[in-house]
Amino acid sequence: MRSAQRFEGPSDLHMHSNHSDGTQSPAEVVRQAHLHGIRTLALTDHDRTTGWDEAASAAGEYGMTFFPGMELSAKHQWRSVHVLGYLFDPVDPALTAETDRIRGDRIGRAERIVRNIGRDYDLNWEDVVAQTMQDATVGRPHIADALVARGIVRDRAEAFDGILHPREGYYEPHYAPDPLTAVRLITRAGGVAIIAHPVTAGRDRMMPVSFIEQLIAEGLGGFEIDHRENTEDGKRLLRSIAAEHDLIVTGSSDYHGAGKPNVPGENSTSDEMVARIIDRATGSRPRYP
Ligand code: AMP
Ligand code: FE
Ligand code: FE
Ligand code: ZN
Repeated sequence: MRSAQRFEGPSDLHMHSNHSDGTQSPAEVVRQAHLHGIRTLALTDHDRTTGWDEAASAAGEYGMTFFPGMELSAKHQWRSVHVLGYLFDPVDPALTAETDRIRGDRIGRAERIVRNIGRDYDLNWEDVVAQTMQDATVGRPHIADALVARGIVRDRAEAFDGILHPREGYYEPHYAPDPLTAVRLITRAGGVAIIAHPVTAGRDRMMPVSFIEQLIAEGLGGFEIDHRENTEDGKRLLRSIAAEHDLIVTGSSDYHGAGKPNVPGENSTSDEMVARIIDRATGSRPRYP
């Protein structure tokens, strides 16, 4: 396998920068990955690919391999479903139309959440804008940062456990495609679609297995199994489904800078699985050092 010989592990294929809800620039994310011994990393900002070039050139300086990626927002019934896409064509018209739509809708949604919160707390939209890099994919994490800056909560975790939790009544949904559409868009753009953290506890618990089998029929590449938010029972179930269908399995940190406790490289993806992603994709190539 030609491709498999040109990158080195350990590989962390799920990291966020301030182009979405990470707190650091793409170059700083790469530097942090380097400091933690990562040799191949993917930048997977939510619904956005604008961080790729900066991350790729930083990776080059450290002799690391950069893996183009994105975490596409999707929704199955009430569940938020995140679909990681790797090595797709970043200018694919259907995919970029969809990410434009999601990001556009996220802005109005965030404004609605802030308006709801503003009825009970001293928070306004300017507070959120101040926490959000221009054109970043805006989400609840930026509202959390604004709540922290206002001294209303201590950190993002407290905001998500409290004010930002749907049970508190301030929450608003945003537009997101069905997971079947998300998998199809990534696959048709030449990418490999991997369901991110598919078995977290609680409200967003796993999609039904029958629906996952529909995703597999639609071209799903595999599952992100080694992720701190997946349950142990869930990981076992996913491993058996992956083995049955010969799917790719990955592991990653889901690093968000200071926004989450997740550390680069706390989980990683095997060389064999990285090679399978490279061999399967046709939309773009990793940037080797
Ligand atoms: P949104 O897509 O705007 O609904 O926000 C969801 C995002 O919030 C996810 O991408 C997570 O990275 C982030 N998030 C969820 N829970 C937490 C938490 N407890 N602490 C920090 N970030 C979180
Ligand atoms: Fe996030
Ligand atoms: Fe996610
Ligand atoms: Zn993520």
